[in-house]
This record gives sequence, structure tokens and C-alpha cells, in this order.
Amino acid sequence: MVRYSEDILDEIRNRIDIVALISEYVPLKKSGKGYKGLCPFHQEKTPSFMVDEQKQIFHCFGCGEGGNIYTFIMKIEKLNFPEAVKLLANKAGVQLPVYEKQNNKSIQEKELIFRLNGITADYYQKNLFSPQGKRALNYLLKRNFSEEIIKKFYLGYALPGFEHLVHFLTSKKIGQTDLFKAGLAFRSSKTGGTLDYFRDRIIFPIFNLQGKIIAFGGRVLDEKLPKYLNSPETPVYYKAKNLYGLFQAKQSIRQKNQVIIMEGYTDVLIAHQFGFDNAVASLGTALTGQQISLLKRFADEILIAFDSDSAGKSATLRSLGLVKKAGLAVKIVYLPPDSDPADIILQKGEPFFANLIKDALPLFDYKLKILLQQYNPASSQGKVNIVKELFSDLADIGSDIELHSEVKKIAERLHLTEDSILIDLNQYKKGNKQLSNILTNIPVESTHVNAEKILIGNMLQKRDVIERIISDLKVEDFTVPEHREIYSTIINLFNKGEKISLQKVMDEIAEPKITNLIPRIMIRDVVSLDSGTIERSINAIKIYKLQLELEKIKNKINEEEKRKKAVTAELLQEYQDLLYKIKTME
Ligand code: ATP
Ligand code: MN
Repeated sequence: MVRYSEDILDEIRNRIDIVALISEYVPLKKSGKGYKGLCPFHQEKTPSFMVDEQKQIFHCFGCGEGGNIYTFIMKIEKLNFPEAVKLLANKAGVQLPVYEKQNNKSIQEKELIFRLNGITADYYQKNLFSPQGKRALNYLLKRNFSEEIIKKFYLGYALPGFEHLVHFLTSKKIGQTDLFKAGLAFRSSKTGGTLDYFRDRIIFPIFNLQGKIIAFGGRVLDEKLPKYLNSPETPVYYKAKNLYGLFQAKQSIRQKNQVIIMEGYTDVLIAHQFGFDNAVASLGTALTGQQISLLKRFADEILIAFDSDSAGKSATLRSLGLVKKAGLAVKIVYLPPDSDPADIILQKGEPFFANLIKDALPLFDYKLKILLQQYNPASSQGKVNIVKELFSDLADIGSDIELHSEVKKIAERLHLTEDSILIDLNQYKKGNKQLSNILTNIPVESTHVNAEKILIGNMLQKRDVIERIISDLKVEDFTVPEHREIYSTIINLFNKGEKISLQKVMDEIAEPKITNLIPRIMIRDVVSLDSGTIERSINAIKIYKLQLELEKIKNKINEEEKRKKAVTAELLQEYQDLLYKIKTME
């Protein structure tokens, strides 16, 4: 059997980060001076497997297994010592002495590509900081990338022209076939010449977990298309398996036990620059299962912060199922319409983005929020569409408690009863997708919503109406969120003694949802008024409020009956009183 020299073994040991290595098999979390996880060598529920990064060793307090990188790989990959050394040497990019060298062609080919990519990245970086790269560097600085971040991510610049890199690499005695293999050059179909793959582009090197460059992304400096060009897939680069920025982010991801996945290179750079250094990008839109299992080694919580354009939104939804299946806690960072994380951080500042992260929504709430924007929750058809889209998620929920809490959210937002949703859900599970219960239980396009529109329409025209309404209705008495927002804006302006007009209110709120709604109310919904209309509308809103209260009490009574408890006289009395009050108002 071959014996490796202690020097070689040390060299490999120095280049491999034991925490990163073990993390490829076991999720580790920072704990005191070291890292902790569930032991891969015996069954356990609470972590007793420790890794000491400084000493480069691991130990399990549960089963007593322990050792260094070599013994870890032997045990977990079921290899003998020389095989483990080979595997790790390969990972570390250490050449084993000739007599021990693997005659494995594909490993040599990978090593070659890593080496070429390394030389190329150095070359691109030199360009960026040379006089010829001034335009590219200025572009980056103008986009607010700091020099520090440009260096941390090793950005570079591919010069305009077709043969700069090819010349540079051939002058280093690198053969053309090897350039093709690494995806750095292509053969011109016209002349048969060998040409640079990237030309006049900012270069974003893509690293693997060990910090080796596996590929490049290149962005134009203007509006030319394609905006981004990525290296073709090579033996070391599979798009679906890697994440941009993971090498730079992995330490922070482990410490925060949380990773933020974004769409773009630029998002990741700006995020890191402003302290969100647990950000990575998915190199394309939707996430893959392989990317998720990679991330699973580093953190328990995944936040998705994709662009909020429609492509980004659907990529988000497509990715969610996968993440959930992997058993990770996933939340979605809700970005304002048509923005990406880089825009937000630069325009609104890092505290604003930090808040968006803090308020990240669980999958279900995110979906509900998107649907509420997509369909009109005040119309029957809108309600039905929203519920329909949520049923497949509801049908997947295993726990009763969770199901009830989600159904409650829908019921509240859509003004439906929980029961009608649950009954239809059961039908849906049996294959009946009609939603007949919900439909019959939707109150006729409600008087109170109409009343809200009438009041708003009139307040925007007559100051004395405002006075009359403010004294009677609170902001919360309006049920439609947009109406609430308009009403509270009116109250604010009124209290400040300012003039109120519909234009002014629209300027004040300036959200498309509302600036669209106000004209609709004014033109379509507010019909001619007789003197009693305002009073009747106020009344309708008050009655609706009481009806909601009545509904609540009814639910309480039902619940007590279900639990076979005696319903208290107090509750029944309350119910009677309310009912009476409503009757006298109608
Ligand atoms: P910028 O801020 O410079 O406009 P971005 O990163 O926000 O860039 P997007 O257009 O939002 O760019 O695209 C998001 C990500 O999708 C990019 O960073 C890139 O990884 C990938 N991408 C975009 N366009 C392409 C393309 N034509 N080919 C390959 N990947 C692309
Ligand atoms: Mn973007």
C-alpha cells in the first residue's frame, strides 16, 4: 500500500476547512468555540457531535467516534486511508506525487479547468484595474459597488475584442482544446478561429465551496442583449448545483443559521456590502432541489428575496414547494412592486431592508398576500378564485391546528365563515371543485362595502360630510383595506386643517392600487344622492359591524356546544341583545 508523506497530508489538511467538509454531510451550527450537529455515525435527536475548527478535529459525545478529516471521510464514505487521501487531495487541489497519482482522467480534466479559470480570473481582474478597464470600473463605482466588495467577489473585466484572453492564455502555453474545455473560448463558425467567449463584459467569477472558480458570469455595460452571459456547463460547472456567493457567504450563513436567496449577482454584491452577508443567488430563476440540499448543510432557515416583478414572483412560488419538501423553514421577503433587493437597499437604506427581512412572510401568508393583489377580494368571483388557488396548499396541511389557523386567515380577509371554507375544502379533497358552500354563503355584494364607497366618494367632494362621518365612524369600521387607507388619509388631512380634494388624497397615498380605485369610486360607484344617503350608509356600516360581532358570539356558542359545555347565560344574553339592536337599526 502507498504511504503518503506527512508533508502531503499536512498540505491537504491545511487547505481543507473541516467545518465546510463535515457540513457537506451534517448540518452544523456554531456552538461556543466550535460547531455542533447531529452525529452521522449513530442515531440521535439532540446534537452531541462537535467539530473544533482550530484543532481540525471532530468528536461525538454520544457514540465516541472522532478523528480528523481523513478518518471522517473514511468512515462516512466507507473508504480506506489512501482512497480518503485521494478524495481529499482532489478536493483541495493538491497534486499527489506521481507514483501515487490517480490515472483518473476526469479528475485531471477538472484540475485543469480550475487552474485555467484561476489564471483567467486574475487576468480579468487586472484588466478591470488597468487604464483599459476604466470604463468598466467607473460603471461599477457608479452603481455603488465599493472597491472592497469588487475585490471580495473578485470581479473583473473582459476587454472588447475577440482574442485578448485567447492570446494571453496561448502565450502561457495553454492549448486551444483546453480553452474550449473550460468554456473560455469558442470556435468561430465562419473563420474556424478561436475566439474569446466573454467580450466587453463585467466578469463575475463563480466559486465552489472550496473557493475554486468553476465558471464566470458576464454583464454588458450598457443596454445590449443578452444582459448576462454565463459560462457554458463544463465538467466543473453545473448550474443547477451551485449558488453564486455561497463561498463568500457560508461562514455568515452558518452563524446566522439563515440564508437569503436572491435572483441576481448585483443583489448579492450590494447585500454583502451592506452587511447582509448571508445572501446568495440562484444563478437563473427557480431554485433546484440540489441547491436546496446544499444550503441545508449550512442553515435551518431559508429566506427567499426574489425580484418582485411577475417573473420573480412565479419563480418564488415554484421554488417554495421544493424548499418545503426539504423540511426547511422557508419565508418570503416581500419586496415593493417591481424592485429587487439591490434597488431597495440602495434606495431605501439597510434598516428598511432589515425590516423587510424581519417581516418575511411564511409561504401561506405570502401566497395569500399575492392573491389578494391579483384578484378583487370584495367580489364573489375574486373570493372564489383566491380560495381555489389556496385549496391545494390547504389540502397538504397535516396538522389540524395549522389548518384552522390558515383557514381563519382566509375567512377574515375574505369575510367568509370558516365553516363554509372547511366544508368546501372537504369536498375539494374528494374531487369536487365547485366551492358551492362558499358561493352560497357570500353575502350579496355587500351593502356595507357599497356604503363605504358612497361615503368616501362624498368625503372627497364635501367638507361638511367629512365632519359628519368622522364623528361617527372609526377607521377600523371600514372593512376594505383600501377604503381604510383613504379614510385615514382624509382624517389626517382634515385634522391638520388642510384642504381636501380627491387629487390631494391620491397624491398623498400614491399607490397604484388606490390611485386606480379612487376614480373608479368617483365615476362608477357614487351615484346621485338624496339627502338620506349619507345617514343610510353610516347605518349600514354600523349594522355590518354588529353582525360581525354577532357572528363571533355565535361561533363561541357553537364551540361550547361542541365541547359539550353548558353555554353561559351571559353569552346567550349578549347574543339576544345584539340581535335586538340590529333589528331596530335595520
Ligand atoms: P442588474 O442589476 O445589473 O440589472 P440583476 O442581477 O438585477 O442585474 P436581472 O435582470 O434581475 O439582473 O436578472 C437576475 C439574474 O438572472 C442575473 O443576475 C443573472 O444571474 C440571471 N440572468 C439574467 N439575464 C440572464 C441571461 N440573459 N442569461 C443568463 N442569466 C441571466
Ligand atoms: Mn434584478
